[in-house]
Amino acid sequence: MKPGIYNDNFKKINKNIMETKNTKAFGTEALNVPLHAMNIKRRALQPHDVEMKILFCGICHSDLHQIKNEFGHTMFPIVPGHEIVGRVTKIGDHVKSFKVGDLSGVGCIVDSCGKCEYCEDNLEQFCDEGVTFSFNSPDKYLGGATYGGFSETYVCNEKYVVHIQETLDLASAAPLLCAGITVYSPLKHWQAGPGKMVGILGIGGLGHVAIKIAKAMGAHVVVFTTSPSKVEDAKRLGADEAVLSTDAEQMKQYVRKMHLILDTVSAKHDVNTYLNLLKPDGSVVLVGLPPEPLEIGAFNVVSGRHSFSGSNIGGIAETQEMLDFCAKHNITADIELINVQQINEAFVRLQKGDVKYRFVIDMASL
Ligand SMILES: [Zn+2]
Ligand SMILES: [Zn+2]
Repeated sequence: MKPGIYNDNFKKINKNIMETKNTKAFGTEALNVPLHAMNIKRRALQPHDVEMKILFCGICHSDLHQIKNEFGHTMFPIVPGHEIVGRVTKIGDHVKSFKVGDLSGVGCIVDSCGKCEYCEDNLEQFCDEGVTFSFNSPDKYLGGATYGGFSETYVCNEKYVVHIQETLDLASAAPLLCAGITVYSPLKHWQAGPGKMVGILGIGGLGHVAIKIAKAMGAHVVVFTTSPSKVEDAKRLGADEAVLSTDAEQMKQYVRKMHLILDTVSAKHDVNTYLNLLKPDGSVVLVGLPPEPLEIGAFNVVSGRHSFSGSNIGGIAETQEMLDFCAKHNITADIELINVQQINEAFVRLQKGDVKYRFVIDMASL
């Protein structure tokens, strides 16, 4: 999840006193203060709302960025978490698509205007008014910020809740709610599939899921990694080929071979190397978040009509489609399951890239 335009409705917060319910959570009131147990309020159920008991919540790099205020708009207190898998415990009077006991999921988006051309097109991520994110976003109902999934329950309009298939391993399905849709949406948009050479740059939380999804879409998957230890792991994850990108001889063999390269790297790196691997009309699509601007040599895009593009999460309908696709192909993330009390230690390890490949919190530990 990445920063977006904040919803204007923040300025028109409903001043009426709304009933709330105390909920246990894990968060922090200030920068550099470790996350700890706290109480938050969830809104009373509105007619279209679903209340779920949270079973598992993934830890995404954006959670780390936000508690460290690295995007510059963190509202404290903060409760992170936006890869939420739960079970419905209550429904509002007008809820149609969920019943009590259903498995449910919430990802990055929990509200949008619902009437702009993008919302009407199921592309809520591009909403003209900006979306409400599941945490650290102005809360239209209660004021303050929305609180995420490192908590006991979540309350959300059913339009932004997805169904999770009972056949999936629920803990390892949680990261699909952000990492899964972040890679599925561009792979689909740029038509990864049979006959296509699809490169995955970087094997981390995003990259390892991208390998599995691209493979299941029928593409020939080539992983590019700087880490010799990840070459074998890439093949275990389903890649057809894995290339050590620091080896110039190996890299030469892929010049003009790739239709699409999904770039999941969040550190500074030279994208020109990868633009040169594209076939004519090929694209390098960035889904990682390097902090510094990336330089692109003109000839690396004008030659071969190459594109350098980006993609950020996906809409709710596409998130459901991705979950159905993953259930059909039995795709989940490779995870390390932790208790919520280990969260600060997990953030330290995540910062160092020391996780294979996603931490997920067992919320029963709360
Ligand atoms: Zn995320
Ligand atoms: Zn909209």
